[in-house]
Amino acid sequence: MDIQQQIKTLSEELRQHNYNYYVLDNPSLTDYDFDIKLKQLQELEAKHPELVEVNSPTQRVGGEVTKNFETVVHENRMYSLDNSYSKEDLLDWETRIKKMVDGVVQYTCELKYDGASISLTYEEGTLIKAVTRGDGTQGDNVTANIKTIKSVPLLLKGKYPSKFDIRGEIVLPFEGFNKMNEERIDIGEEPYRNPRNTASGSLKLQDSAEVAKRPLECLLYNITGSNLGISTQFESLEGAREMGFKVPTAAKLVCSIDEVLEFIDYWNVHRYNLPYETDGVVIKVNNLQQQEELGYTAKAPRWAIAYKFKSEQVSTRLNDITYQVGRTGAITPVANLEPVELAGTTVKRASLHNADQIERLDIRVGDEVFVEKGGEIIPKIIAVDFTKRPAYSEPTKYIANCPECKTELVRSAGDAKHYCPNDYGCAPQITGRIQHFISRKAMDIEGLGGETVALLVNEGLISNYSDLYELNKKQLMPLERMAEKSAENLINGVEASRQIPFERVLFALGIRFVGETVAKKLAKHYKNIDALSQATIIDLVTVDEIGIRIAESLVDFFISKENVHIINRLKGFGVQLALSEDVLANQTDKLKGKTFVVSGVFETVSRDELKKLIEDNGGKVSSSISSKTSYLVAGDKMGPSKRAKAETLNVLIISEQDFLNSII
Ligand code: AMP
Ligand code: ZN
Repeated sequence: MDIQQQIKTLSEELRQHNYNYYVLDNPSLTDYDFDIKLKQLQELEAKHPELVEVNSPTQRVGGEVTKNFETVVHENRMYSLDNSYSKEDLLDWETRIKKMVDGVVQYTCELKYDGASISLTYEEGTLIKAVTRGDGTQGDNVTANIKTIKSVPLLLKGKYPSKFDIRGEIVLPFEGFNKMNEERIDIGEEPYRNPRNTASGSLKLQDSAEVAKRPLECLLYNITGSNLGISTQFESLEGAREMGFKVPTAAKLVCSIDEVLEFIDYWNVHRYNLPYETDGVVIKVNNLQQQEELGYTAKAPRWAIAYKFKSEQVSTRLNDITYQVGRTGAITPVANLEPVELAGTTVKRASLHNADQIERLDIRVGDEVFVEKGGEIIPKIIAVDFTKRPAYSEPTKYIANCPECKTELVRSAGDAKHYCPNDYGCAPQITGRIQHFISRKAMDIEGLGGETVALLVNEGLISNYSDLYELNKKQLMPLERMAEKSAENLINGVEASRQIPFERVLFALGIRFVGETVAKKLAKHYKNIDALSQATIIDLVTVDEIGIRIAESLVDFFISKENVHIINRLKGFGVQLALSEDVLANQTDKLKGKTFVVSGVFETVSRDELKKLIEDNGGKVSSSISSKTSYLVAGDKMGPSKRAKAETLNVLIISEQDFLNSII
């Protein structure tokens, strides 16, 4: 097969897989096979830039950095939608329509997805550009970012008009959103507030590789352009689906407002089972000819209307504002409400986020406030009912000192939050750090839970995580709800945690911004805590994926005498603060100075294992063959071009077995 054909075949396979996985939710390749194919394609493209196809699947990984997004005028304006809130509103709308058009009117009912709207332009089946709604007349060109979203087809399938725009909504499904937040909480960052804002914020990130990491989806709902060869909205949805777009299957064609209401009633209940947020239903006149007759008002089409689901809202009294201190010292103000029923649960508390939010709402103790349950789990306070404000109420003064330890709070420029800087003398920070230390992804200490940690801290038995290793049965037994068995379990759990590998210990230490992945990188690079603690900022930033923010946080951590002391104690207790002998024993300098290219499919080890073996033995892995390559490790199904290139450059070609023998 010639190179051009190879590129074509690989691209086609990858495209098909993306479609099966992200549009049909039905993967056809394992992640590993996909990665291999993607890397093969990247290698081929790197060597033959002249053969790179427009919209190659390799563009999905991103990497393009946009400093300023270009402003683009929409060829077809992106309108807003009129809203309706009741059956009467819908009947009024129907009456207006029937006055303006003749004949039977059918409607397409769709869900109203809550994300960021986007307009995609395709020419001859290829994605040309993606533009945000902006003010409806012009928006930002965010093509590089949109290309990383796997459910956006870069090339279309089947039959398609030669040029058209398609509109849709970029959403962040709950599952991906929650996962992103878990990772943020792990490293001591504030979680994102809601999927919608996170989705629209993602579109404007400068580094498209960052966007590629976010589990965004694109749901399509409208095709515009001329000579499209379609006559109804419902048909256009089906057509879009056939071209390879992700068009939710909830859309329904109906013949009357009563049926519209049935659709609304159904989804008003079932929307909570959807993987992403919806805030209503959009009803569109189905016939495009009738749509044209109806036309537009200054702001919205007359042929469509949005029905907003009622976000359940109640009013209740704000009894008190209290302040919570997190593991990193961040202060969160909490509204304590007169308990009230809302969407089937009793609400007593709501987050107020930070000082700015309190000021924005001008919320005061004693106020009657409106509480709403949106897509988020925690209810939010929408506004104050100023008509009910008691006379002589005083504006809320944000606290200046930590509610727990009385230390003066700090708030640095650019931070929305206030922090308590008393890391080691502030009870919730002490407890929070130990709770993080014992958590599942960290030291995973069996027999010890978050509440017991709090109890142990309160009883004065521990004040940092190294104290856990000195607990004994005699101290534990008198504690509430602690039987002999549970005390033993706890001690055994602590004992067992000494075997937890260095990288997880590093994560468990709770250094700000050091999440699981960063901890792995650091452990691999520095091999032990001593080397890491000596590293300067300049050293640290040379490590792959370690940025200045992480580097500063690490240096700060190791400057602290308390931290150094605690780490020394952990060392004394036998906690793994270095890569284990096993791991180190497998590391040699045998391949020092040698560069390897790995290609094809292997039998005894996976491609990643092979690469790891090379690195563990001091060699370097490179993705493409050059005169600097020492060896090409050739697996099964390696492309002939690679072999040819290695031969011309006099690069030695070795088999998997040759390689494995070489490192014994
Ligand atoms: P609004 O922002 O309230 O004016 O509502 C209009 C927006 O609803 C549009 O800009 C779209 O981004 C969004 N929308 C979400 N789902 C749909 C849908 N199925 N059809 C049309 N617009 C939708
Ligand atoms: Zn404090």
